[in-house]
Amino acid sequence: MDWSVVLTFTYPQEAYMAKNYLESEGIETFIQDELTAQSGMYANAIGGVKLLIPTDKLEQGIEILKEGGYICPADLYREEEIKIVKWEKGMDKTCCPFCGSTNIGKKKDPDKIMVYILLILSVLFPIFRSSYKCFDCQKVWKYKK
Ligand SMILES: [Zn+2]
Repeated sequence: MDWSVVLTFTYPQEAYMAKNYLESEGIETFIQDELTAQSGMYANAIGGVKLLIPTDKLEQGIEILKEGGYICPADLYREEEIKIVKWEKGMDKTCCPFCGSTNIGKKKDPDKIMVYILLILSVLFPIFRSSYKCFDCQKVWKYKK
C-alpha cells in the first residue's frame, strides 16, 4: 500500500489526536519519526512527526482533517511545497515559471485573502519571505541564485 504524509506535527501528542480522529472516521493511519521526535534533539531537523494515510485516501483524509479543525490555511503551505526555482539572468519574475501566468503573488492586484495569508506566514515562518505564489496553478516557489 502507498502511504502519503497528510500532516506533520511538532509533538507526538498532536499527531495522536489527529490519528485518533482519522481512525474514528474509518481512515487507516501510520505515524512516522515518532521515536526520533520524542528524543527531542532531532525533531526539528527531520520536520517533526509525520502522520501518514493511504495515498488513495489522501483527499478524503484532508477533508476530514479540515472539518475537524486540524488543518488551517497555514498547513496548506508547508515548507516542502515551496519549489525552488533556479534564477537565471533575464528571467521574468512577474510570470509564473510553471504555467506562465502573470496572476502571481507579487502582482499589484492579487487575491487579497491569499496575500494576507502569505503575509502572516512570512512572519511565522521565515522561509515564506520572498516566496511567490501563483493564483492560477497554486504553486508556491522561491528563486535561488
Ligand atoms: Zn502558475
